[in-house]
Order: sequence, then C-alpha cells, then structure tokens
Amino acid sequence: MESLQKLKARLGEVHRIRAATAVLRWDQQTYMPPGGTNARAEQVSTLSRLAHELFTSEETGRLLEAAETEAEGLDYDSDDAALLRVARRDYDLAVKLPPDWVEEMSRTAALAHGEWVKAKEEADYSIFKPWLAKMIDLNLRKAEYLGYEDCPYDALLDEYEPGMKTAQVREIFGALRKELVPLAQAIFKQADSVDDSFLHQHFDVKKQEQFAIEVIRQIGYDFERGRQDVSAHPFTIAFSINDVRITTRYEPDSLTSALFSSIHEAGHAMYEQGIAQELEGSILADGTSLGIHESQSRLWENIVGRSREFWHAFYPRLQEIFPDQLGDVKLDAFYRAINKVAPGYIRVDADEVSYNLHIMLRFELENELIDGTVTVDQAPDAWNAKMDEFLGLTPPNDALGILQDIHWSMGAIGYFPTYSLGNLISAQLYDRALEEHPDIPSEIERGEFGTLLGWMRENIHHHGRKYMPTELVERATGEPIQIRSFMGYLRQKFGQIYDI
Ligand code: ZN
Repeated sequence: MESLQKLKARLGEVHRIRAATAVLRWDQQTYMPPGGTNARAEQVSTLSRLAHELFTSEETGRLLEAAETEAEGLDYDSDDAALLRVARRDYDLAVKLPPDWVEEMSRTAALAHGEWVKAKEEADYSIFKPWLAKMIDLNLRKAEYLGYEDCPYDALLDEYEPGMKTAQVREIFGALRKELVPLAQAIFKQADSVDDSFLHQHFDVKKQEQFAIEVIRQIGYDFERGRQDVSAHPFTIAFSINDVRITTRYEPDSLTSALFSSIHEAGHAMYEQGIAQELEGSILADGTSLGIHESQSRLWENIVGRSREFWHAFYPRLQEIFPDQLGDVKLDAFYRAINKVAPGYIRVDADEVSYNLHIMLRFELENELIDGTVTVDQAPDAWNAKMDEFLGLTPPNDALGILQDIHWSMGAIGYFPTYSLGNLISAQLYDRALEEHPDIPSEIERGEFGTLLGWMRENIHHHGRKYMPTELVERATGEPIQIRSFMGYLRQKFGQIYDI
C-alpha cells in the first residue's frame, strides 16, 4: 500500500494548508483590525492557490490511481476505501474547473458582494441585477465543466449536497408543500393568539452570553476543544476535530436571537467534534454535506432547544438571570412565545413552520433562472408572485424580497435546498433515536443530553465524510429522506400550541 501511504501524506498536506487558511479566515471575522483586510485577502488567496495546485497536480492524480489499484477488494466500510472514494470525487470535481474560471468566480464574488450590500441598503435591485446575471452565467459554465445527466442545476446542487438530484428535491418539496401549506395557513390565521412581546425588552448582553454558554456546555459542546467569539454573522469553523470554534452576535433588545443562534452553531460544531479521532487530519474529517450539517444544527436549535422539555430544565435558571423581565412570565407562556408562528418576509427570521416555504420559493426561482424561463429582469416580480403564493405576502421593496440573502452574491446557486433537507433529516433522525431510546424526552426534561448526543455521534458524527448524505440517512434510519417525521413533528407541536 505504498501509493496509498504517499497519497495520504499528500492529502494531509493539503488538509493542513486549508486548516491554516481557516485560522486566517476566523481571525479576519473576529479579531483582525480593519487595516488588515488587503494583506489578509492576499494571504488567503495565496494559500488557497497552493492547496488547490497541490491537490489537483498530476502527481496527486497518479498516486490516486495507483492507490485505487492497490486497494481493490478493500472492505467498503473501511476508512481507506472511503478515503479513496471521497478523494476521487473531490479530485475529479476540482480538476474539471479550469483555473481561469475559478479566478473569475472569486473576483466576481468579491465585487458582487459589495454591490449586493449597496443594492440591499438602497433597496435597489438594478444595482445588483448585472451581477446576478454574471453569477448565473458563471454557474451555467460551471455546470458545463462539471457535467450532468438531467439538468445543469444537478451539477450545482451536487457541490453542496453530494449525490442529490434536482428531480429528487422537486419530488420531496412537492410532497412537503402539499401538506405544509394548508397547515401553515391554518396557523397563520391564529398568529395573534401568541404574545411574544416580552422577548423584546432590554436583556444585558453579558448575562445573555453567560446563559448561552451554560446551555451549550450542557448540551455537549466541548469547550476544551472549542471556543465562542463574537462576529457580525454567526458561523462554525474547524481547524481540527479537536479545535472547532463558533461565533455569535448579541442583540441587547432580543433574548432569543443570540441564544438560538448559539445553540444552532453548537449543533454544527458538535457534529465536527464528534468525528472519529482516527479520521483526524484526513480528507474524511469533515461533515458529509450541508444538509446533514444543518440536520444537526436544527436538531439542537429547534427540536431540542424549542421543546417544552428543554425549557422545563432551563427556564428556572433563565428566570433567575433575568428576574425583572421574566419573573412573572410562566413557563407555558415562554414556550409558546419562542414558538410563535407568523408569516414574514425574511427567511432568517422565519419560524419552523414558515421556514421551508421560503426555501421552496428560492429553489423554484433558482431553477427558473438557470433554465432560462425567468430572466434577471423578471426575477423580482417572480419572487414577489411566489411570496404571495407561498406566504400570502407582497414585499414592500426588494430589500425585503429578492435582495435579502447573501448567497447569490457569492455565486452560490444550489445551496438553499440544503436548509430544508436539513430540517427534514433532523426530524427523521430524531424519530429514529426516539424509537431506540424512548427516554430521551424525559432525559431532556432533566437537562441530560448524553443519550441523544451519543446516538448522533454513533450514527452520524463518527463517520465524517465516509458515506454520502443519502447513504448516511438510510444507514441511520433504515429509509430514504422522507417528510413524514417532520410533518408529524410540526402537527403535534404546533397543533397543540395553536389548538388546531
Ligand atoms: Zn446552519
């Protein structure tokens, strides 16, 4: 297995350059003074280029081929067989994209980001329109370079959710839509029956931080192998299985924003911290897809973090920290408030019931932009028409409509569906964990999370990238991605809250 060993050493070098680049990115978004921006951009781009060159070199291709021959007959489930599958996939994708395209994409993204910020601030779509057109063109070219069977969107989706096809997502979303829209409409009619005004008072940010840290420590985020800092946009970043960091941002007039975003990011981070130590430093030491990643963040944020059992455990402590604001608020009122459902314009502020409707809108529109049935001129009207169809709302301006998300300015088309897939998978995994361990809810009520985290570790985290996302879900739950668990969860929880 000489070639395999050489290949592993080479992939290890690529991994370490990328990890070092991640440290620079983390620093840029947390502690770096603004003056460092230009130099940091050069440092990051140099290291990214070195990693890319090393990974896509002919020598890597030669070692990969030789190692594949050596490894013939290896057990499918072995780490080495999985490493070769993943390395082959990454390598083939990386060599298909010409360096000119990669450079053009990163240059365009850097410029488009600034124009998107301006367009959003001024609620003026015309500023962003030419950049959206460029991004669509770059993505169409990307799809041609990568290749696809059915439609160009397949190639784009595949980058974020490996192996998933547009037709599969369309089928899943079609079924979800049929059940979700009537439920959402029934709840929207009663939106006013829940009062959440007490969540929007002044909450000292130091105390918010103290409570959030207590919570994420208790659910299982390991501070010996992680830390939390403040950044403009919350994120999770890993430099190693044993150094997985999260960030958040505190808002003095909202109790829940930083709290749930901390739990969300801790969910992502616990996934990475749970990867088997044997995979440390290898190409397998990462989450297997954005959808699986999101299934973990959403599990802890929503299914666990917004459950009655969870607050049975934590609410007394929260009241102790904020006696003036919450002393007179009963647990039940608090539980209903953090689960308030109401139609809104903004995806990131959406509740659990509305959220997937925002995603379906984007998935449809992205497909229409990519297949040419909607032009960039028609896109804002198309957005607003879908908003009316899904949520019964018409955005008053494009900042609250088509300009709200950063993704297209970064060139990321095909990313959005992973959020909804994550929601579906989170409920499916939780259902399965409950079947095996019916005591999980009563443990949560006592503030104990070890059984649930242990199940996720064993069935999901441990494997890193060894299995493709759909394969991993089937291994863990015995069936493909389905909507039954998620819809059952929504019906039970919100049927009770809204009495329908
Ligand atoms: Zn997330």
